[in-house]
Amino acid sequence: MDRQQDFVLRTIQDRDVRFVRLWFTDVIGTLKSVALSPAEVDAAFSEGLGFDGSSIDGYTRIFESDMLLQPDPSTFQVLPWRGEDDETSRMFCDVLTPEGEPYPADPRHVLRRALDKAADMGFTCFTHPEIEFYLLASDQPGPDGQPVPADTSGYFDHVPGSDAQDFRRSSVTLLEEMGISVEFSHHEDGPGQNEIDLRAADALTTADNIMTFRTIVKEVARSQGLYATFMPKPFSHHPGSGMHTHFSLFEGDSNSFYDPADEYRLSRTARQFIAGLLRHSEEITAITHQFVNSYKRLWGGGEAPAYVSWGHNNRSALVRVPLYKPDKAGSARIEYRGIDASANPYLAYAVLISAGLKGIEEGYELPDPAQDDVNALTTFERRALGHAPLPGTLHDAVRVMEDSEFVAEVLGEHVFSTLLRNKRQEWDDYRVEVTPYEIKRYLTGL
Ligand code: GLN
Ligand code: MG
Ligand code: MG
Ligand code: MG
Repeated sequence: MDRQQDFVLRTIQDRDVRFVRLWFTDVIGTLKSVALSPAEVDAAFSEGLGFDGSSIDGYTRIFESDMLLQPDPSTFQVLPWRGEDDETSRMFCDVLTPEGEPYPADPRHVLRRALDKAADMGFTCFTHPEIEFYLLASDQPGPDGQPVPADTSGYFDHVPGSDAQDFRRSSVTLLEEMGISVEFSHHEDGPGQNEIDLRAADALTTADNIMTFRTIVKEVARSQGLYATFMPKPFSHHPGSGMHTHFSLFEGDSNSFYDPADEYRLSRTARQFIAGLLRHSEEITAITHQFVNSYKRLWGGGEAPAYVSWGHNNRSALVRVPLYKPDKAGSARIEYRGIDASANPYLAYAVLISAGLKGIEEGYELPDPAQDDVNALTTFERRALGHAPLPGTLHDAVRVMEDSEFVAEVLGEHVFSTLLRNKRQEWDDYRVEVTPYEIKRYLTGL
């Protein structure tokens, strides 16, 4: 028994924890949970907990449905929102085959594999996400068929005593109680839209934290009689919800992205990493934007980047290099903006980090930065400057992804083919639907 496992068992006893939830995710990034009684935790550590994976999205073919959950003791936390006399805790799990091998459909394993590759190259990858979401009055649409936002405020608005402020305070408190540090939080541009930014952590921890974050935000909203959604674009005429993520690579204590001599203080490594992100951005769009609705955000304005470009503090760019002070070598980082709030963080980070690493490995050249608002250029200008459009629909994104050897390699054959099947089905379901928009536009007059 290792020390972390021992600590978990002791804490369960000391705090009289009644339930231990084991968490893992399916390929789409839906959180799955099974509650274990405390007496079973010891055995789960040593042998894993057997479960039937055949009804988990993307996990299996029927004949191989037996799987094991292996709890990761470093992720043990008592859930602060369950009340004192019924203490409930959780641990994230790795999914194993009955032979004890990593199960290839486990998204956490896909990310681990990408991070092992980074480690082989000498790097630890740090990430910090800016998570946007809408706070709604309920999960039901209003009389006009549109969702009803919880407030009518806008960007950085300070509304004393507002639901949103109360909500952010409670969420941030709970996140901190679960060991998830928050950098800042504010009202976003859309009515009811909020943003909470987590502090940088290693990429696997960040992905776990995002899963916890979504749960907490939904719990807090519910406790305040509201509903929180990470749907990428709930409103036609308000901005979508992104999950911009900042990346940096460290070798030991030293930030490999920093070079004080460079115009943008970017090292060669950072430039190659950005070049990798840009070169592979179209292939990975079906993962960073995994739903039909994701493309309404991508192509619906509101500072979501739709063209392949990078820039220094340019908010129309897909990759933005933020301003940081020259003495802040440690904070050198780049921001990838082409990812939305609904992405599976394990798979999205796996393909993004792998794209950057490939840029380093192959020594990709970084094109010139975009100097202008890329969205405001004409199609001709963008073409001349090499700013390709990202795929316009889920269908287009899947078409690019299915030809990508890079994505197949990073995801592994199983996740690659499962995801393609799942996404083709989603597109087929969507394209046969006659939408209210079409009725409004075409019914009369044709
Ligand atoms: N909501 C925008 C997006 O979806 C981002 C707005 C911002 O934070 N600048 O990407
Ligand atoms: Mg932000
Ligand atoms: Mg924002
Ligand atoms: Mg941002």
